[in-house]
Amino acid sequence: MYKVGITGGIGSGKTTVCKIFEVLGVPVYYADVEAKKLYDNDYELKDLIIHHFGKEVYSNNKFDRLRMREIIYNNDDKLALLNSLVHPRVILHANEWMKQQTHSYAIKEAALMIESGSSKELDKLILVSCPVDIRIERVSSRDLLAPEEVMVRIEKQLPEEIMREHADFEIVNDESLLLIPQVEAIHSQLLMLANQQRQQH
Ligand code: ATP
Repeated sequence: MYKVGITGGIGSGKTTVCKIFEVLGVPVYYADVEAKKLYDNDYELKDLIIHHFGKEVYSNNKFDRLRMREIIYNNDDKLALLNSLVHPRVILHANEWMKQQTHSYAIKEAALMIESGSSKELDKLILVSCPVDIRIERVSSRDLLAPEEVMVRIEKQLPEEIMREHADFEIVNDESLLLIPQVEAIHSQLLMLANQQRQQH
């Protein structure tokens, strides 16, 4: 399976771009959505989390997101610890999912693709880029957050310039360029690359 990643900062438009790829028939793995399910369904992960954070982060056998949010709020070490437990499990789960796909290529969408090391397992990486001021506006209206709070989240992520160094393709989502033609152009190239890879094997 030819594996493609889509990354970008918060509010850059990763999900929006992935929806267009889905319309073109490409299967997409949304890492955040799947990670949320793994907190409850992956027993190995659950044991690790309880070992490091205590039983109280699960109530009635369900992961207590609010409790965890209180623990990691303003505590970067605890956040890093949580990520170090969750990321390897999501990488494994995504790899299993990738193996089951039958389209010529499949996409994994994740905000922390480069930080988690999972971009190394991909054949190509697409960056969705957008200036910070537009991202603040989008996320504060989508999630009803103060712009300052959005900025705090943005500052916890890798800067766009660093993500760009790792990316093979870039989709500019600053509302001045149309998204669909950009996605279509990359889709054609990916189909070609995936076919070339298949012929070599
Ligand atoms: P997150 O990292 O928070 O998951 P994301 O990168 O997946 O965000 P989206 O959820 O796709 O970003 O987009 C953020 C918000 O901006 C959404 O409300 C979306 O509808 C809006 N948005 C994205 N792209 C555009 C665009 N080109 N024009 C107008 N609104 C947009």
